[in-house]
Amino acid sequence: MHFTDLGIDTRLETQLAHQGITQPTDIQAHAVPTALAGHDIFAQSKTGSGKTLAFLLPAVQRVMKQKALSKRDPRVLIVAPTRELATQVFTQLRLLIAGTNIKAVKILGGENFNDQIKALRNDPHFVIATPGRLADHLTQRSLQLSGLELLIFDEADRILDLGFTEQLKMINELANHRLRQTLLFSATLDHAQVDALSRNLLKKPKQILLSAANEQHSDIKQSLYLADHLDHKEALLEHFVKQEEVGQCIIFTATRSDTARLSELLNSKGLKAQALAGDLTQSKRLEIMDAFSRENFKVLITTDVASRGLDLLSVTHVINFDLPKHAEEYVHRIGRTGRAGFKGTAISLVGPKDWPSYKAIKSFLNDELAFHTVEGLTGKFKGLRDKKPQVLNKVNDKVKPKAKAAPKRKAKPKKPQAPIKAPLNIDGDAPMRRRKKPEQE
Ligand code: ADP
Ligand code: MG
Repeated sequence: MHFTDLGIDTRLETQLAHQGITQPTDIQAHAVPTALAGHDIFAQSKTGSGKTLAFLLPAVQRVMKQKALSKRDPRVLIVAPTRELATQVFTQLRLLIAGTNIKAVKILGGENFNDQIKALRNDPHFVIATPGRLADHLTQRSLQLSGLELLIFDEADRILDLGFTEQLKMINELANHRLRQTLLFSATLDHAQVDALSRNLLKKPKQILLSAANEQHSDIKQSLYLADHLDHKEALLEHFVKQEEVGQCIIFTATRSDTARLSELLNSKGLKAQALAGDLTQSKRLEIMDAFSRENFKVLITTDVASRGLDLLSVTHVINFDLPKHAEEYVHRIGRTGRAGFKGTAISLVGPKDWPSYKAIKSFLNDELAFHTVEGLTGKFKGLRDKKPQVLNKVNDKVKPKAKAAPKRKAKPKKPQAPIKAPLNIDGDAPMRRRKKPEQE
């Protein structure tokens, strides 16, 4: 199948061929014609399956071929949860529109507001934004959405996780005209909060569900290792990063301070590593990502700031130094490797404090997730016994207020019927701040 078979213009197809992209992926084959036909879309497909082009291609084609509703307002708005992801989508878009007169701007938190106002005055066709800064521009009226034709949310579930529900409502209301088309994409959309959002945002959407959020990723080899304590985790980490088959590697930690500490540790062992955390300046964040994508250093150590969307094909390994509290984040973290048909390895270190997360991830993935050992580095920890039910209830009570606005999870026929979100861990080494106003924005 060719892109032109999906209704894509030959000019765009040639542009893709320059990038070595000749055959549509599954999600592109489904989503492109559906979007071109004007339908709203609710699409879920696994990490690394080509979702970005699945929404960019019909968007660019629309701007190239159809008359604009408004001369001044942006025609396409793409919202992404993190600056790094928005930047990456922007880069892909720029490749597609090279040599055309289509204008695109990027509106991210942490960058100069007045420069953004100037860029918006230039009447771009495309705006790619993170939700917080976007809302600021809407409030200040430096951006109008009444002529918006296409509204796209990449990783919509993460945008909600980060607490941007109000901003999304605002965007929805300001761009609420009959002709607006809306697309939602992620690898993990099937939970109740997203259902509630999509009921508000989407009109008679076509559901394109190519894989379940908890489906095993065939290109990612997952293995887990038990660790007694921090020192043990660090010894295991060093062991894995030193393995010959490791190309580039992303290490995820629970806290920002750990990113810096581990970066120092690895550098002291002669391994080139850099820490990327949300408290760095925007230019530093971009600089680090840029150097990593150029393969100037081997190991990127980060928090969930980089768990979504990042597409660097040279990443052969993902190491969870700590497990994420929410099972979906596990899926996204490991999805930084094994992309676009390449094989990848995901290694997770599980200490006593990770145990509740481990249980939640295991139940979400419906899988045994076997433990392995490293000779000479085997510890004593063998797992914890299940906590008493009343403790879990307490934890769940704490979680409830966050989900207040959303209706109860739909009783989807899932096996097993485990909650999709992991219960928060009362004694975990990650602070219980994951849903606080984000460092990501
Ligand atoms: P997702 O958003 O589903 O996680 P991306 O859109 O980031 O995945 O795409 C993953 C990688 O696959 C990117 O490097 C992208 O350039 C590449 N890719 C996308 N579509 C194709 C295609 N049709 N053929 C080959 N590679 C592709
Ligand atoms: Mg993506």
